[in-house]
Amino acid sequence: MSTGNIKTTNVSRPYTWKERLYLLTIPKGFLVTLRYFIRGFFLRKSNTISYPEERRNYSERFRGMHFISLDENKLENCTACYLCQTVCPAKCITITAEERDPKENPVGVAKEKRPKAFDIDALRCCFCGMCEEACPKDAIKMSRNYELAVHTREMAMYDLKHLSREVKNRG
Ligand code: SF4
Ligand code: SF4
Repeated sequence: MSTGNIKTTNVSRPYTWKERLYLLTIPKGFLVTLRYFIRGFFLRKSNTISYPEERRNYSERFRGMHFISLDENKLENCTACYLCQTVCPAKCITITAEERDPKENPVGVAKEKRPKAFDIDALRCCFCGMCEEACPKDAIKMSRNYELAVHTREMAMYDLKHLSREVKNRG
């Protein structure tokens, strides 16, 4: 491939005789392994844990997967105002609003709109928490759930049904 007039600088250097003598590096690696074996097997000190039986404590400020909070009548607190979608720097929230059925306001709270669809693409989300901060209804919240492994990209698209379900670890 032609590089045109672009000048390149070769920054490679020759190996020293020590680096060429790989035999020195091999016992050094064995010593590291032995050190960690003694530490773990005899002293019972380990850097790893037996997940999922054991879990680490996370910071109070940890932000996990979102959920949509519900009111006492199990209706989502979201009024589809689009603030979270607008503020999201990753553009991973997609909301479609619809008129709320007036019968759904038994406690007299005016929620004239509701989300017909509310999708979050968890693969694009950077978990910055700006959506939670922007929400005037405390409707979108971040849980402490970090178990987000999925088999396909489609499974990382969380819809309204998923977001408003009862989740463990809401924090
Ligand atoms: S946490 Fe940040 S990136 Fe993720 S949906 Fe909310 S605003 Fe967007
Ligand atoms: S979650 Fe909050 S900010 Fe987002 S649309 Fe609903 S009410 Fe508005």
